[in-house]
Amino acid sequence: PPAILWLRQDLRTTDHPALLAAIAEGPVIPLYILDDESPETRAIGGAQRWWLHHSLAALDASLRKRGSRLVLRRGAVAEIVESVAAEAGSTRVHATRCYEPWWRHCEEAIDARLELRLHDGNYLAPPESITNAQGARYRVFTPWYRALLERMPPALPHAAPDHIPPPRAWPASDNLADWGLTPTSPDWSSGFGEWHPGEKGAWRALRDWLPVAGDYKARRDYPSLTATSRLSPHLHFGEISPRSIWHALGERDDAGAETYRSELGWREHGINLLDQMPDYGDRNGRPTFDEFGWRSSPEADRDFTAWTRGRTGYPIVDAGMRELWNRGWMHNRVRMVTASFLVKHLLIDWRRGERWFWDTLLDADLASNAMNWQYVAGTGVDAPVFSRIMSPLLQSERFAMGDYVRTYVPELAHLSDAEIVAAHGQDVRVPEYPPPLVGHEAARARALAAWEALRG
Ligand code: FAD
Repeated sequence: PPAILWLRQDLRTTDHPALLAAIAEGPVIPLYILDDESPETRAIGGAQRWWLHHSLAALDASLRKRGSRLVLRRGAVAEIVESVAAEAGSTRVHATRCYEPWWRHCEEAIDARLELRLHDGNYLAPPESITNAQGARYRVFTPWYRALLERMPPALPHAAPDHIPPPRAWPASDNLADWGLTPTSPDWSSGFGEWHPGEKGAWRALRDWLPVAGDYKARRDYPSLTATSRLSPHLHFGEISPRSIWHALGERDDAGAETYRSELGWREHGINLLDQMPDYGDRNGRPTFDEFGWRSSPEADRDFTAWTRGRTGYPIVDAGMRELWNRGWMHNRVRMVTASFLVKHLLIDWRRGERWFWDTLLDADLASNAMNWQYVAGTGVDAPVFSRIMSPLLQSERFAMGDYVRTYVPELAHLSDAEIVAAHGQDVRVPEYPPPLVGHEAARARALAAWEALRG
């Protein structure tokens, strides 16, 4: 009987241990299920539906070149896996290991009725394998990363198979177009044209970035430059494996490559934290923050809306939030500034921001998003203390954000770099551009008072 290859965030054919294990047993049914029904599953956000549509189309084309195809179904995952297995006479399911808490639930349900084989493949090392000498897990990045490096390099990636044996009869499949994953009216995806979802697009992004890898450390924090790899959505959807990226960097030991490896390490650390704290996307890593005085009022709601639309009156925050909406992506340095602004300047619960990012980022990833939001908010297990408050003005000056602001905030396109820096926290009196929601010093004082109240 054919084996089912249950695909989730592993939409590739190269370096795919679960696919190879399924092929070794005979015919394979590659199956992708869109689950918007199970209450414990966090539904895929709006921007990522666009990505998913194109990634599934690319994967189907790639499977067809290998004598196979993609079967699409919609509904509660465990029930669908079971019914496709019954239709095809399958008893065995292969899948790549994922760590989002809702998958655990589905996996248990599938494993109760069929034989589920989980394979590692989306991380450099299984998170539970990185422990200290006493066998305990880490929660702080630096010692954890040191321990990860001792296990590197990872094994060499596998090539894509030439042929994937098909079953005698194919189970029925939905039509991808009928899933309605791409927006029509309004079409908010018009700014996504630069992305190329799918395995080929992932390798192309890697190939384009490798020649500038050496400058990564020096240039990665400047949002006006194109200096980062833009591989994050490809990594989230598993269109390329991190060990393929690791080996593409080869033996080089320049500062650029070293820093880049440690960023891949942050991605792994996110999964390390989520594996230990499955509710990290919803609960404060530091439980004292459960009593924190987040603002919650109609006025706070208005501020939140202004933040989502890029109308806070802080040029760098607004540029970031508009980049996010337009491109489905935001530069990492600006993610930190915008997140910090929401949490500390507006005193709004980080979880509201995390959800907005979840819905608008093409690379939305529970582990990375939760870890970074909690880190910036000061609520995370390894976060700097809350009272350290980022200054949008100093950030925009230090990281030369003038061009970036002029690109995304056309109302300010006529301002010089110095004028843009000076505009943070002050009313620039430009028609169409809003005054600041709150002054920097007032916001800082309010945040510190809330912090003192919590400690007191
Ligand atoms: P590069 O600089 O080229 O880095 C290479 C890869 O390393 C990235 O593709 C990513 O997989 C990983 N990486 C880099 N920085 C981080 C980091 N700080 N944490 C975890 N992994 C990292 N990243 C996501 O993939 N999904 C998210 O939902 C997400 N939410 C974030 C929320 C906030 C508030 C912040 C501050 C950061 C968030 N990040 C998230 C991390 C980071 O901003 C992005 O991974 C990065 O900007 C992606 O662009 P890139 O591929 O060009 O990165």
